[in-house]
Amino acid sequence: MSRGVAILGSTGSIGTTALRVLARHGDRFHVAALTAFANATLLREQAEIHHPKFVGVVRNGSPHPRAWKDGASCLVEAAEHPDVQIVLNAIVGAAGLDATLAAVRAGKRVALANKETLVVAGELVEAACREGGGEIVPVDSEHSAILQCLAGRAVTDVRRLVITASGGPFRDWPRERLERATIADALQHPTWRMGRKITIDSATLANKALEVIEAHFLFGLPYDRIEVVVHPQSVVHSMVEFVDGSVLAQMGVPSMELPVLYALTHPERVPDTGVPPFDPVELSPLTFERVRTADFPALRLGIEAGRAGGAAPAVFNAANEQAVALFLEGRIPFAGIPRAIAAALESLAGAAGGSRDALLAADQEARRLVRQSFP
Ligand code: NAD
Ligand code: MG
Repeated sequence: MSRGVAILGSTGSIGTTALRVLARHGDRFHVAALTAFANATLLREQAEIHHPKFVGVVRNGSPHPRAWKDGASCLVEAAEHPDVQIVLNAIVGAAGLDATLAAVRAGKRVALANKETLVVAGELVEAACREGGGEIVPVDSEHSAILQCLAGRAVTDVRRLVITASGGPFRDWPRERLERATIADALQHPTWRMGRKITIDSATLANKALEVIEAHFLFGLPYDRIEVVVHPQSVVHSMVEFVDGSVLAQMGVPSMELPVLYALTHPERVPDTGVPPFDPVELSPLTFERVRTADFPALRLGIEAGRAGGAAPAVFNAANEQAVALFLEGRIPFAGIPRAIAAALESLAGAAGGSRDALLAADQEARRLVRQSFP
């Protein structure tokens, strides 16, 4: 039977990738719901092609057909829609949290690109999965790689996860030059074409911090058994070291089509043509380097926030979201992003977590602090 998929954030980089993937797999899946933030023109084109039962646009006041829903509540409505069995959450930022919680509480699969959800509220999402019988299957390429390497093995078989990082556009820039990096420099990702926010996160390495926290919650390993290594070619998507010393890696030409498809079909594999042919000679050499931790402080700040727990990961995420927005508006320098995160984490150390409302209060407070320090 064809399974209904809701794509939250269908107009974005992951959302449009997912529609390409789904167009090839109409025998297994149908597009049941689409939502976007504001791009009603593209959303309308997508709706005309895929005929979803539900369409929602988040920004109030965006002109749209009468049958569409609007406002932020359309995300939860799409997630809970009876024709939806799988929710592909491809929203950017903490705004994706409620839809993830609603979907897993309703017993659905969430194919999760929106890693910020797990960073802000990993424990609540785990509890909601237990409560409602839903599950999270990662779309992030590194976590998809780990899931594929684990192949159902228990975490007690695992010694260590090794998450690969491209290193971003500034991998070999000296520290002094980083101070003067421009918006255009930071948006030049060497191996992936993605939305602007994650592209900046890849330049600061905040993205890898988010991914370490994401891996901690997805796979249940403590932080001292999750490592990051730089791999500039983005061909090895991550590795799992087992207790006997054997290391499995998942490889492929960089393309989000495979992890998107796998998140829909896991644990099955289905024939597909989304990933370009793999030629190891053509892709050579594959190299690995240590992370320049001192020059990219956002990575350490995020992992420390993960270890601290409580509201600290939510504060890290919110401060980062706000600082990235200010950087993209040209109001703070590149090196101001980790500085803003560090200041927010320091001011809000000990902020309470525990509930959705407490976490979102910490999120709001962190954003306010960052805006206030850069008026
Ligand atoms: P994007 O900016 O290209 O797209 C974001 C989508 O979310 C758009 O459809 C937009 O309309 C919608 N959106 C934005 N803000 C919203 C809000 N407040 N409420 C509701 N909808 C909103 O981003 P992207 O690159 O596709 O990334 C989406 C998520 O996937 C992020 O969490 C990112 O970290 C993750 N991710 C992306 C990639 C990639 O290759 N692009 C890879 C791994 C993980
Ligand atoms: Mg990733």
